[in-house]
Amino acid sequence: MSTLTVLNPATEEPLVELPEAGVDEADRAVAAAKAAFPGWRAVAPADRGRLLRRLATLVEENGEELALLETRNVGKPIGDSRGEVGMVADVFHFYAGAVDKHHGETIPVAGGVDFTLREPLGVLGLIVPWNFPIAISSWKLGPALACGNTVVLKPAELTPLTARRLGELTLEAGIPEGVVNILVGPGRIVGQRLVEHPDVAKIGFTGSTEVGRKVMEGAAGTIKRVTLELGGKSANIVFADADLEKAAASAPYAVFGNAGQDCCARSRILVERAAYDRFLDLLIEATKGVKVGDPEEPATEMGPLISADQREKVASYVNGQVAFQGDAPDGKGFWFPCTILAPVENSDRPARDEIFGPVAAVIPFENEADAVRLANDTPYGLSGSIWTGDGARALRVAQGVESGVISINSNTSVRVSTPFGGFKQSGFGRELGMHALEGYSEVKNVYFATD
Ligand code: NDP
Repeated sequence: MSTLTVLNPATEEPLVELPEAGVDEADRAVAAAKAAFPGWRAVAPADRGRLLRRLATLVEENGEELALLETRNVGKPIGDSRGEVGMVADVFHFYAGAVDKHHGETIPVAGGVDFTLREPLGVLGLIVPWNFPIAISSWKLGPALACGNTVVLKPAELTPLTARRLGELTLEAGIPEGVVNILVGPGRIVGQRLVEHPDVAKIGFTGSTEVGRKVMEGAAGTIKRVTLELGGKSANIVFADADLEKAAASAPYAVFGNAGQDCCARSRILVERAAYDRFLDLLIEATKGVKVGDPEEPATEMGPLISADQREKVASYVNGQVAFQGDAPDGKGFWFPCTILAPVENSDRPARDEIFGPVAAVIPFENEADAVRLANDTPYGLSGSIWTGDGARALRVAQGVESGVISINSNTSVRVSTPFGGFKQSGFGRELGMHALEGYSEVKNVYFATD
């Protein structure tokens, strides 16, 4: 079996060497999940809930270790990793409580009684990216296990460490062997195998739109269910009547957080022309305050990018229009500074592509209709924000923007109990909240004749 070297992106030092799975190991993982399925679906709902609750508690008890592992593997500031691990525990607590609250209906019909059942799908392939490895793993694992499915979880090759540890914790929690299988190997080989495998009923995928398209194509052969959480190019719309100081203080974290490697990054900042110059000054001032450096330092707010390839890709978007560029450490590590491009047209390349790095494009708009038009002028539709003091306008624009998640006078996107997912080429299906359970179960209709 070949091996894989996992790096710390802040130091470029190897963290660990791991065996790399291929098609045979993928097949074995699917077979283990298939064998475990009848037993797992038969576990009484309250007991399945108890096991998930125990997993949540173990994540809490091992929180510091998991956070440090995530920080070292992803280059994520330790404060962010602690927050994300806390969310992972909350996700398992939520789905522990959801197991026996996801039920069917009775439907009035002639000549009998009609009711629906919610059934698990079977073996699921869960494919996770490198930007939020443990958080996104839990978003898929929680509802998948709650519904009685067994899984093969494939983390990104660059960031497999917390997923592997989470796999160990599932066993420690008492979830039977074979229910959760962690498969570390290249996406184009083991990911593709899961997508095409006849015994895999569904793929839950988060990653690039390009690979999402391949997943859909590959799944067609077996009419596999897919949910896709893909890229974004979200708009942060700032009207002149907004609290500009508050909007500008928040904006850098909405695009430079996680070094911009966030599908919800508000990387197009649309500003009403009347407030453009003032807002840009405030934004630059606020960006100067972002603390970039050693991810293990508690005060750090932005770490490095994930890889040299990612840094090269990000750099290719910065060749003009630079209104501000901050500092980043010299030497080892895949560092890239906070960068503000202004003024940018929505047709310019940095406003079209998901850069996935700390680069913001500040784009002027004329009025409300223009703001909505520009926000929607993108193939993506994941997230976004509206900053205004006019409540009616906020609601009009929230209804006009084509995205799955939108915030008013806030830049937050994700909550454990609320649905998260995209419109347009940002994908389909919803993660989190009770909505996620829809994507991890089938509805069966039963008719019982009483005549
Ligand atoms: P990918 O879409 O390639 O990776 C996401 C996951 O899919 C990884 O686990 C990867 O495995 C796996 N994968 C790759 N190829 C296949 C395949 N053919 N079949 C099944 N699974 C596969 O993202 P990248 O890492 O290449 O990142 C490239 C760009 O994608 C970023 O710059 C960003 O723009 C976007 N992106 C968006 C994300 C989001 O949250 N919306 C997350 C990550 C990336 P492996 O890593 O082992 O190859």
